[in-house]
Amino acid sequence: MARNLGPSCRLCRREGTKLFLKGARCDSPKCAAERRENPPGSQTFRRGKMTDYAVHLREKQKVKRYYGVLEAQFRKYFRLAERTKGNTGEVFMSLLERRLDNVVHRLGFGQSRAEARQIVCHGHITVNGRRVDIPSYLTRPGDVIRVKNRPKSLEQVKNNLAEHHRDVPDFLALVEGDKPEGHVLRLPEAQDVSIPVQAQLIVELCSK
Ligand code: SF4
Repeated sequence: MARNLGPSCRLCRREGTKLFLKGARCDSPKCAAERRENPPGSQTFRRGKMTDYAVHLREKQKVKRYYGVLEAQFRKYFRLAERTKGNTGEVFMSLLERRLDNVVHRLGFGQSRAEARQIVCHGHITVNGRRVDIPSYLTRPGDVIRVKNRPKSLEQVKNNLAEHHRDVPDFLALVEGDKPEGHVLRLPEAQDVSIPVQAQLIVELCSK
């Protein structure tokens, strides 16, 4: 399964914002985006004002990196959003938020999206009682996300919930306890996205 294997903190510095790719470290004083404000690369300080195209491109790259999706999949979501009724930018962001790895992360089962993706891939998660090991699985309202009833699976998720609890967005509900589970209450909307995104810029770029 294709994914970005390069240094994560460089991606945040390139986009000039925290993308929360490393779990607990992102909230610590060790966060590279807070310590070094300049973009990576020795010549970057010479760069002047960004062109209109660069502004659009950076917005797209920020979203791809935040959700850990590569170009082909990104385009697939965009085509699906275009075909769906409603505001294309909002539908597009909603599709990304509905990904199972994102939902597992936002419930707090995985400290970062990368860890959540691994938890899903290794078969620790069930949706409506059936094992789902596909990170791009699109969740729907009414879905119940549970951790597999295995000591190893439960231990990892419970440790993450105890050590690094984030606010759960309104479209999800978390039930903590011996067997933590999450409920998808509704489709995610623009206010549920946890980083500031100008989806319209992405629509303008990808529609060309
Ligand atoms: Fe980004 Fe996290 Fe690295 Fe900070 S610690 S630069 S938020 S990946």
